[in-house]
Amino acid sequence: MSFHATVLTLYPEMFPGHLGHSLAGRALERGDWRMTTVQIRDFALDRHRSVDDTPAGGGAGMVLRPDVLARAIDSVADDSRPRLLMSPRGRPLTQARVRELASGDGAVIVCGRFEGVDQRVIDARQLEEVSIGDYILSGGEPAALILLDAVVRILPGVMGNDLSGLHESFEDGLLEHPHYTRPQTFEEREIPAVLTSGNHKAIDLWRQEEALRLTRERRPDLLVSRKNP
Ligand code: SAH
Repeated sequence: MSFHATVLTLYPEMFPGHLGHSLAGRALERGDWRMTTVQIRDFALDRHRSVDDTPAGGGAGMVLRPDVLARAIDSVADDSRPRLLMSPRGRPLTQARVRELASGDGAVIVCGRFEGVDQRVIDARQLEEVSIGDYILSGGEPAALILLDAVVRILPGVMGNDLSGLHESFEDGLLEHPHYTRPQTFEEREIPAVLTSGNHKAIDLWRQEEALRLTRERRPDLLVSRKNP
């Protein structure tokens, strides 16, 4: 069974978005993964098809109603797939969580809008809140596309060269080393000599050292939480 993403959203036309192109798009056409969208508004309860209301306690903006969203969630078959809610309050997405998701059957992903979602539906449907970073988007749709991009690219058969997924930033707790390609000289800048030496041991060592140097400079937090130092 291939990875199946079910996305609950007020803007189904935003999907599959960029994931309909390039390698992910071809894999989608082949059926290596699947995407279904659910229009949350189809589960509205009133004539006006309203999905949001003013926040209890006052304040700006609108909040997604729990009853409408619960009906939308309950329309999706209750299988083993995790139910995620894209949310800036969630646990920040990591490559480790991406790998876990990619090894499963798929995910049900709720995209918030407005000020967010009524807390009671998060609790009642046990939604796992996932953040893609410490900044605020206007809706969960691009966040869901980013999460799915990260997952889909490591599904078996999606990337042309399966090995190229293995040596990436974060896979070993480090940022990746710099890359170079032809031409040998670019605006008087040369490719580091070691990379054209043919000495694979020296090349590996240089790459490891560069990865460590960049991580120390830019993301010392990664070194602290690294599993295999
Ligand atoms: N008032 C909320 C922000 C709402 S933004 C707060 O301050 O926490 C509207 C919707 O965009 C959210 O419900 C969520 O689905 C999505 N969103 C915004 N920023 C996000 C982020 N960093 N990661 C994941 N989803 C995000």
